[in-house]
Amino acid sequence: MERLKGQGTTSIQELADHLGVSVMTVHRDLNRLAGTGHIHKRHGSVALASESAEVVKNPCAMCGKSVIGQKAFIVHLANGEQRNACCAHCGLMLYTQTKDAWQAMTTDFLHNHMISANQAIYLIECDLNVCCVPSVLSFGSKLEAEKFQTGFGGKLATMEKAIQYLLGKQHGQKY
Ligand SMILES: [Zn+2]
Ligand SMILES: [Zn+2]
Repeated sequence: MERLKGQGTTSIQELADHLGVSVMTVHRDLNRLAGTGHIHKRHGSVALASESAEVVKNPCAMCGKSVIGQKAFIVHLANGEQRNACCAHCGLMLYTQTKDAWQAMTTDFLHNHMISANQAIYLIECDLNVCCVPSVLSFGSKLEAEKFQTGFGGKLATMEKAIQYLLGKQHGQKY
């Protein structure tokens, strides 16, 4: 857990080397941690799950799911009101549909704090589906996003590219 807290993600092989135990032992212990919701485990990779998962009051303005702190995307309007989305997927769609959007904030998936949606790096369609499909995770650090991509796949995109991608998907399904 300490290692994950320092790095955000790691691989099972790396943990086995570091701890001087077999890969099977690491697998077994990680399964236990994954069962308690502390980590995400996928193929050979491990990522830290966020500890605090506070529920924001208003449900997602796009799909109605409850909004959990770890994944929340918030669009601030020019008049001071705000709209919440359950994840970056719904958040980016919400942002494009909100005419008087003033600022958008998304949650850094690894560190669980709000970052500017404009400056975030988005990982689209990785192997980890945390909320809406296609899954979109946001990261404050490009380096961490790339590390995460190494373990969980997917495509990295800027906000603009991520929106284009999601809009393209919608049209693809329609026609
Ligand atoms: Zn939603
Ligand atoms: Zn969602």
